[in-house]
Amino acid sequence: MKRTLTVCPYCGTGCMFYLVSDSGRLIGVEPSTTHPVSRGGLCVKGWNAFGFVHHPDRLTTPLIRRDGKLHPASWDEALGLVAERLREIQERHGADSLMFASSAKATNEENYLLMKLARGVFGTNNIDHCARLCHSSTVTGLAETFGSGAMTNSIDCFDNTDLILIIGSNTTEQHPLIGSRILKAARRGTKLIVADNRLIRLARHADLHLRHNNGSDVALLNAMMQVIIAEGLEDREFIAARCENFEAFAASIADWTPERAAPLTGLQPGEIVAAARLFAGAKRAMIVYSMGITQHSHGVDNVRCCAALAMLTGNVGRPGTGVNPLRGQNNVQGGCDMGALPDVFSGYQKVSDPMVREKFTRAWGVDALPSTPGLPLTRAMDAAAEGKLHGMFFMGENPILSDPDQGHARHALKNLDFLVVQDIFLTETAALADVVLPAACYAEKEGTFTNTERRIQRVRKGVEPPGEAKADWEIICALAKQAGCDKMHYPDPSAVMDEIASVTPIYGGISYDRLDPLGLQWPCPDRDHPGTPILHIGRFNRGKGRFSPVIYRSPAELPDEEFPFVLTTGRTYFHWHTGTMTRRTHLLDREERRSFIEINPDDAARLGVRERDDVLIASRRGSVRAQARITGIVIPGVVFMPFHFTEGAANALTNNVLDPESSIPEFKVCAVQVRKAP
Ligand code: SF4
Repeated sequence: MKRTLTVCPYCGTGCMFYLVSDSGRLIGVEPSTTHPVSRGGLCVKGWNAFGFVHHPDRLTTPLIRRDGKLHPASWDEALGLVAERLREIQERHGADSLMFASSAKATNEENYLLMKLARGVFGTNNIDHCARLCHSSTVTGLAETFGSGAMTNSIDCFDNTDLILIIGSNTTEQHPLIGSRILKAARRGTKLIVADNRLIRLARHADLHLRHNNGSDVALLNAMMQVIIAEGLEDREFIAARCENFEAFAASIADWTPERAAPLTGLQPGEIVAAARLFAGAKRAMIVYSMGITQHSHGVDNVRCCAALAMLTGNVGRPGTGVNPLRGQNNVQGGCDMGALPDVFSGYQKVSDPMVREKFTRAWGVDALPSTPGLPLTRAMDAAAEGKLHGMFFMGENPILSDPDQGHARHALKNLDFLVVQDIFLTETAALADVVLPAACYAEKEGTFTNTERRIQRVRKGVEPPGEAKADWEIICALAKQAGCDKMHYPDPSAVMDEIASVTPIYGGISYDRLDPLGLQWPCPDRDHPGTPILHIGRFNRGKGRFSPVIYRSPAELPDEEFPFVLTTGRTYFHWHTGTMTRRTHLLDREERRSFIEINPDDAARLGVRERDDVLIASRRGSVRAQARITGIVIPGVVFMPFHFTEGAANALTNNVLDPESSIPEFKVCAVQVRKAP
């Protein structure tokens, strides 16, 4: 039996475990007892992270579409065709008629290489990844406020803090090991405020549970901050020394009284006052948020308000404080760090900066690099639907299930001249592709992932990939060669990381020999640097923290007579995103086999719906069938639905409206009707 230390492929908590294999096949995992995050524990997904690896559905050979069907092909044939068609589209319609979608499931090295391929080989900044769908509002909002879009503190800080405000994060289900840290902290006396209109598990342990209306976070946070200033509870010393634009900000929220916020939030004014006093009274307070904050048409404004509340009370740059967006996927932080974004190279270095472009031009040995920021993924889907984008390359993404308004996503992809999908299974998106490239999964390759607390950790190969599948980094380099680029040769991923370190200041001190056993937290600018557990100590990355006035905007689509319910979407404990891996893991799939909605008992009684009845849910964009779960977890007028399932897909219903600054879709609020299925 062989044990291989690696990182969990599911959430951004970044637990490490040993893959246990026997005769080249995985037979289980064992948690790492010494790891600072796992500490000998795993959640149900971690314990079962080996379950899909040898599934018979794994892609084992490249596939090419001929006469409407996908047929097996050789690597040379498939990559030759991909290179030829992408070059053809580039020549005919321009480089910006191509789009490359990288992946938060792939390693840092692979994200960096796909970014290099898009920019350095095909000459476009049209490169993005699924952070667009989860935390692009964090990157925009926190970068503007603090100068860095990452979690400010470390997971260890949850053990030593006085108060945690959890807003828009179902932490025990989505980041279970962080959720259990929060529950342990609560048992030791740390106060909890949970702002979420679902009765999530953490809410049952909260000192205060605010069940505010979906999409009313700005009203709630502005009113809390109004109370803090009106009662003189703000940290004047911190504001004077560390922040700017406070006067304008204070003036902007002066009339956001709890009485004004009450009808918008659905809360009593007294609840808002109590939350404000409790938060401001804590010596050390942490804010934890996730997609309940970010996935709105005003997601950036929500993030600005969270950041302002932390600055207002002096809760940044110290242990046990900070603004802590919990990144969703295992390497979504790394995907952003590696510049799989349309406006920055690795390390958030802007493509519009001539000095930065000059540096990358020299390092990559290319003549020039594009200077205009490219298309965010969501805008690229719109462009494809309108016939303005002609070729797309998806690495490990499944937009048919993950993007809003499935009908729109399907139309966009079918409208392309050429679609390439590189993945481990024939996903709903791969089934539409012209060429499918079979990739190795996390357990079959080397590399690094960066977790939610900016910790860069080693991913190690435990078993061989199936059939002819190859690691994403190998496929990208082979494609670059087929496209005529002779500058993307690497003996192994460690050499890619050496190149990343040489051009990326926040990763400047990272090399594989330094990552054992616990990884390093960026920024880590040189080889002697120990890494940075807490950001913004003494000084914000941008100098002073900036208060930004925020104008309240309601969600884009609210219930009416025809569509009387709010639909909010999310995840369950047992499944992961589009279910590609967890639905092929027997023990996880057994727990949740089909799509469902949570509906309040009052609504169910009115509609004549009984527990486990089938219901039809319809929005202006589509309709699906799912099973009803009658529960007080949701309030009357709101239904919740997970988006993991292809049958009864929640994203057939969601609204493709985008935040104007971050282009994130509004997955958390749309209007639907619900009726008992015939
Ligand atoms: Fe994996 Fe996240 Fe569970 Fe840890 S908490 S085992 S990283 S899914």
